[in-house]
Amino acid sequence: MIGSGYVGLVSGACFSDFGHEVVCVDKDQRKIDLLKAGTMPIYEPGLSELVASNVKARRLAFTDDLPAAVADADAVFIAVGTPSRRGDGHADLSYVFAAAEEIGRALVKPTVIVTKSTVPVGTGDEVERILARVAPDIDAKVVSNPEFLREGAAINDFKRPDRVVVGTDDEAARQVMREIYRPLSLNQASPILFTSRRTAELIKYAANAFLAVKITFINEIADLCETIGAEVQQVAKGIGMDNRIGAKFLHAGPGYGGSCFPKDTVALLKTAGDADTPLRIVEATVQVNENRKRAMGRKVIKAMGGSARDKVVAILGLTFKPNTDDMREAPSLAIIQALQDAGAAIRAYDPEGMEQAKPLLEHVEFTENAYQAAEGADAVVLVTEWDEFRALDLNRLARIQRAPLLVDLRNVYPPEEAARAGLKLVSIGRADFILNHVPAISTLRVDYEKLSEEITTRLFERLGNSNGRKRPLRRLFPYVLEVRGSSAPPR
Ligand code: NAD
Repeated sequence: MIGSGYVGLVSGACFSDFGHEVVCVDKDQRKIDLLKAGTMPIYEPGLSELVASNVKARRLAFTDDLPAAVADADAVFIAVGTPSRRGDGHADLSYVFAAAEEIGRALVKPTVIVTKSTVPVGTGDEVERILARVAPDIDAKVVSNPEFLREGAAINDFKRPDRVVVGTDDEAARQVMREIYRPLSLNQASPILFTSRRTAELIKYAANAFLAVKITFINEIADLCETIGAEVQQVAKGIGMDNRIGAKFLHAGPGYGGSCFPKDTVALLKTAGDADTPLRIVEATVQVNENRKRAMGRKVIKAMGGSARDKVVAILGLTFKPNTDDMREAPSLAIIQALQDAGAAIRAYDPEGMEQAKPLLEHVEFTENAYQAAEGADAVVLVTEWDEFRALDLNRLARIQRAPLLVDLRNVYPPEEAARAGLKLVSIGRADFILNHVPAISTLRVDYEKLSEEITTRLFERLGNSNGRKRPLRRLFPYVLEVRGSSAPPR
């Protein structure tokens, strides 16, 4: 396994757990030293135990000596990074090609070379050319086997995949791949989908682009919910119960980030552009998502009354999603930047991501827990829904914050719960009529427990129809506890 990062290390550990003998190679000496000492260089639930048991069983080893690892192998997987190329955003294939050269020089017998890294269509052809050049006498078959695991659930995803895509037209190579993945077929119908190499390469990008589109779609629907007075979580449920649509990836939030979606969608657009076949839906998705991250910063500022100057904002969760320490393209980065640009001081806490976050963030005070971050803050912003942020003591937050405002970008907390604790809640895709629709009312306290959706709608309609005249809201609506200011209608 060439490359022992999030994908290589998990794949290597799982293959060894299947019973294969695996050597994980990395040119990063520090990573190999850590792994040899039994320390995981990344955070991934269950990985440490899986690695330890397979090292003990002598099925898994680590080295920086690529030639030695390759010489003995029946199959060599390439799992090195394919980041965005600086300048044009296409996939940077220099690591893949460099690995292919090194592998080619180390080959001594017929071997299957498997690209697990996410690579644009046609990369397999280039890897084949490189091998033919450096190892002309060796029969090396190049296979595409893209990886679909998700960080945070990587081991389960690898061991119980929805499908394994194997792209090759060579029957001998297929047989080797069948053997490698055989344990997956013991208790279930084989999840392996054999395709041509180019098709396999495209499947990976098409899958990621589709998921990015799905997330972005529900994010835009969330914005619409906020303006017209609907509930995005219910919309998502209502459409997700349709089997043709499915409930997953319909959670509205601050926009997708991570090591895959942002770079893979852009790389796919480059491939499409080069082929003169534009993908308009993916283009729109990339644009909408990019704007959304900073827009979340503006949302926080609006919730604080329109200004961030001299305000203290506590950010809970920095990683792009829970259960990983991966900070690549995390929405928190753009949100924090937008808030800092507007003059806010930032305090931040993340259960696993702070080491990776520190080099990426300037002038941020990192704290030891959520409450320390919230102490004296003008807003607490829940950015990443780690489990430990799902049961925060809201009464305590309301007590220790300077202003009792919770901006919940993951819709973890129901409005009633926040209201009971005396917290003003701003969430995603919920009709927050107080903030969004009745700007002229300076104070409107309502009894959330009695406030049904129907009543919310009626209240909004009444305010909308009031044509600027002051209305005796209090008498009209028994659940309105206090009104100050005028009840001018929304625009
Ligand atoms: P990563 O940066 O965590 O790991 C890559 C590793 O490869 C690094 O440790 C690096 O030192 C090593 N490396 C680079 N060149 C090498 C060489 N010549 N010899 C030995 N080691 C070398 O990257 P990652 O997140 O594991 O991603 C790897 C690939 O898998 C990418 O193409 C990515 O798009 C894809 N992928 C990632 C995920 C994910 O969730 N992270 C999921 C599916 C697919």
